Parts: sequence; C-alpha cells; structure tokens
Amino acid sequence: MKFSEVIGQDKLKKQLIHGVTVGRIPHAQLFLGKVGNGTLPLALAYAQYVSCTDRQLEDSCGTCSSCSKYQSLVHPDLHFSFPFPSKAEVASEYLKEWRSALLSNPYLSYDEWMTLIEADNKQGNIPVKECRAIIRSLSLKPFESEYKVLLMWLPEYLGQEGNILLKIIEEPPQNTLFLLVGANADKIINTIISRTQPVRVPPIGLAELSKALVERFEIADSNANRIAQMSQGDFKIAISLIQETENPYFDQWRNWMGLCYTRKISEAVKWSDEMAAIGRESLKSFLLYGLEILRGVLVIGFDSSVSSWVGQERDFIEKFNNLQIPVPQLEIIVREIESAISNIERNGNAKMILTDLSFKVARNLKK
Ligand SMILES: [Zn+2]
Repeated sequence: MKFSEVIGQDKLKKQLIHGVTVGRIPHAQLFLGKVGNGTLPLALAYAQYVSCTDRQLEDSCGTCSSCSKYQSLVHPDLHFSFPFPSKAEVASEYLKEWRSALLSNPYLSYDEWMTLIEADNKQGNIPVKECRAIIRSLSLKPFESEYKVLLMWLPEYLGQEGNILLKIIEEPPQNTLFLLVGANADKIINTIISRTQPVRVPPIGLAELSKALVERFEIADSNANRIAQMSQGDFKIAISLIQETENPYFDQWRNWMGLCYTRKISEAVKWSDEMAAIGRESLKSFLLYGLEILRGVLVIGFDSSVSSWVGQERDFIEKFNNLQIPVPQLEIIVREIESAISNIERNGNAKMILTDLSFKVARNLKK
C-alpha cells in the first residue's frame, strides 16, 4: 500500500517519511488510534516505504520488486499477526483470508474481520503458540529486503503470555521492525507499550476526508462535507453515516419529481419560487443530489445488485425505475439538470432556471 492510498494524514506521513530518510527507524512502534483514522493502512504504507528499493520523496515507488510484493501483501519479509479464534493455533492458518480482507478493505475493523472468517460469536486471541511462531519466524534473516517486518494488528488481544515477546521486542534481531497497530492503549499490556515508540494517529482532516468521500462514494460535495464533520474525521463512521443517514434534500426531491410526473405545473412553478430562495450553493447541492438519484435509477435499471443505495432513497429509486421511463429521456433529464447547475453557477436567475427545468423534466418524465 502506498501512502497516497491512505486518506489524509499528510502531516503524519511526512513525519514517518522524514524518519526513514534520516535513518531514524525505531525497531518497535505502536500505531495507535481509531480504526477509521487509518492506523492499519498507515502502518502498511510505512512498512512498504521502509522496504522500497527506490524510495521517492513522498512515497514508495510502487513498482520495484519489493513494492509489488508489498502491494499484494506477499513479500517474504512481511509477517502478520492478528487475533483469530481458538480453533486455530497460529495466525498463518488465516493468512489467505487476512490478505484478501486487507486488500479489499485496509480500514478493517475487528468485528468485520471476525465476521469475515465466520467467527462473529467467538472471541479472538493472539495466543502463546502464535507468539512462539513469531519468535521463530523473526529469528531468520530477511530473505530479500534489508528489513524484516512484523505487523501485529490489535495487540489488545495478546494476553499476559504476550510477555514472552518482550525480549525480542526489546532486542530484536538486526533489521527487524515491529509495527504494532492498536486502538485502545488501556487494553494493551503495559510491558509491551513501554517497549514501543508511540505513533499517534489523529482523526483525518475534515477537508481530506470529505474529498475522499466524494471520490470513493461519488456523493455531492455538500453531503460529503456534512458527513465528514459528523464523523469527526473517522472514515469508518463516515461510511456508516453514508449508509444510514438520509439526505436532507430527499423529501424536496421526491416532492418535485412527483409534481413533474403528475404534471402539476402551477405547483411546480410555486415550488421553483420557494427553492430559488434557498441560495445558490444549496440549490446546487440539491440538484447534484438529484443527479445522484437519477444515476441510481439508471444503474438499478441495468443491474439492481450493484446499487449501493439503501433505505428510503433505495425505495424511491426502485419505484422510479418501475415507472419505466425510457433511458434516453432520463438521459435528457440528466443533461438538463447539469446545464441548470452550470447556469446557476454562472449566476443565472434561479427562479427562471428552476421553472424552465421543471417543464423540461415534466416533458421527459413519461413512459
Ligand atoms: Zn518500491
């Protein structure tokens, strides 16, 4: 994973890169913070950077032999340890699932992980046999890289037997790095904490998070800003908010579409008057939101399984789809809304733009 794939955290990335550049690479570090702040992806990007043979100023190269193995998490000098249910003895029994979980979702949470390996009702652990396996694998020299890395995810799940790792953490074999990734310092045994250098991972900057939400979920800027703020910089919370919260424009959108579909033109004109008063930026957000809904209708018309909409928006999209408006007409509506947005941006008269748009939408909103 490259640093560029980690959301935000520019300041911390710079610090980590600077440390490597000046040769200050602590042999045991504890990345500490909420899952949604990006602790795990940051530790992965850091490990890849340290091992890259063609380090760039701001990131690993992504293409050298080390990077390409890191990108698919198969580098022979990259070892993983993580909690797993007691029916297994060592983490490597779950390595295949772990790699695929991480590749598809580096912001993995403990609950998601346990559900993925179908252990939701069981307690995960990093048991003593796993600790011994770690000591064994680290006693070998690195195969290919200058550094051998052990990334331990959630040392919270180490019991007191984790103390057998103390010696190797304190005096590791040459060029061995321990990267521990935890969320709750109170639950990590003190003896481990005191032997690691902390890397505190703060919440993601709101502007950075908002930008990432727009890119990854194709939501409107205003919606992304609102969600970034509500989540306080936590990407996991932001995702659940996107899935749960309803857009404040939903009711107005549904109302307007209803007026256009039933050709209640005088009411649509009245509606345009009221909407024109909400202000240019809000109006733009409203129309952008409407575009997302219409694209949702187009998508669901082709394949309902790929639609990410949920709740009442999903219901609306499905009902809209059932009206069987021909796709070319929907595309005309999309283009008209896009042109209305650009007219609003160019300071056109909002009331006239909306009234005109209402007619055009009504004309194309029929079977
Ligand atoms: Zn590289």
